[in-house]
Amino acid sequence: MTQHRIALIPGDGIGVPVTEAAMRVVAASGASITTQSFPWSCDYYLEHSRMMPVDGIETLRGFDAIFLGAVGWPARVPDSVSLHGLLLPIRKAFVQYANIRPHRLLPGVQGPLRKTDFDILCIRENTEGEYSGAGGRVHQGTSDEVAVETSVFTRAGVERILRFAFDQAKSRRGKLASVTKSNAQRHSMVFWDEVTDELAKEYPEVEVSRYHIDAMCARMVMAPESLDVVVASNLFGDILTDLGAAIQGGLGFAASANINPTREAPSMFEPVHGSAPDIADQGIANPMAAFWSAAMMLQHLGQDIPATRIMQAMETVCGNGVGVVPGQHGTDEITTAVLAQLQD
Ligand code: ATP
Ligand code: MG
Repeated sequence: MTQHRIALIPGDGIGVPVTEAAMRVVAASGASITTQSFPWSCDYYLEHSRMMPVDGIETLRGFDAIFLGAVGWPARVPDSVSLHGLLLPIRKAFVQYANIRPHRLLPGVQGPLRKTDFDILCIRENTEGEYSGAGGRVHQGTSDEVAVETSVFTRAGVERILRFAFDQAKSRRGKLASVTKSNAQRHSMVFWDEVTDELAKEYPEVEVSRYHIDAMCARMVMAPESLDVVVASNLFGDILTDLGAAIQGGLGFAASANINPTREAPSMFEPVHGSAPDIADQGIANPMAAFWSAAMMLQHLGQDIPATRIMQAMETVCGNGVGVVPGQHGTDEITTAVLAQLQD
């Protein structure tokens, strides 16, 4: 098996213990990796006035993948500084245009829905759209004030995220739901629908459905089992994936990947949760989201067997009732239980 080099950025708060736990689990899974850890975090910022060194991006470029715990500690460093100094530059430099999040219930986990048999892969456009930052304000502070936020959708950007989504649907259950609001937003979203229709011709084996974002929110709650792959713009994907995290039992189980499908630069894997300053240093962070993100990383690297072993170990542990009730088991207890399954 090829050995892959992983850059670890444990970051802040609970990012540190969940990254450490995830790497113990990866080691026990039989994965073939080497790791190098970087202390880039809010602590690093307070010492160096930067979130990472000037050549940080170039350093990371040499790795096969990046695993990130969580970054941010708003009481000490504004999010605008920590996000814009580390997370966003990495996503941008390595063109990680597909943000993917699996939403399904692990056995034994109590979600808020009566339906439990869903398995959804949400794909969010990660580089443009509503979060392009284009716009501005005029006549500030007067009664004539106007604020404009312009969404930017490029053909290249829309085509590549939709193509990625079609490919994912093809490799799963063959169903793709494309989410817009093209009845109300008549330029960008109509364009998105047009590109969807064009690509659909290239993928006759994929069944495509279009939904508006409001209807999709309702569907994820009422009929999540009807969905396979869901693709959406930056803003809509952001909203849908928080809904997805909620229906799968919360942030303790929400995993994510920022993918560069061309593989010309490393992709980055991270639990969805933040640094959770309120519970940092208490030993109670649920590491399952980090384990799941690590399994996604191994899968992306082609290390399918260890990836599957980690998922199966997590499923057994959750099925045994460990780590499923918030606050009942600590980080160490959950990690030990998963390690025990991997050593069996
Ligand atoms: P960010 O701005 O980085 O998203 P946030 O302030 O929204 O951070 P999160 O860290 O995302 O906070 O999580 C919100 C709350 O959920 C936390 O404060 C914590 O109480 C709880 N939480 C999050 N992740 C976990 C976890 N893995 N295990 C247990 N509780 C968690
Ligand atoms: Mg948050």
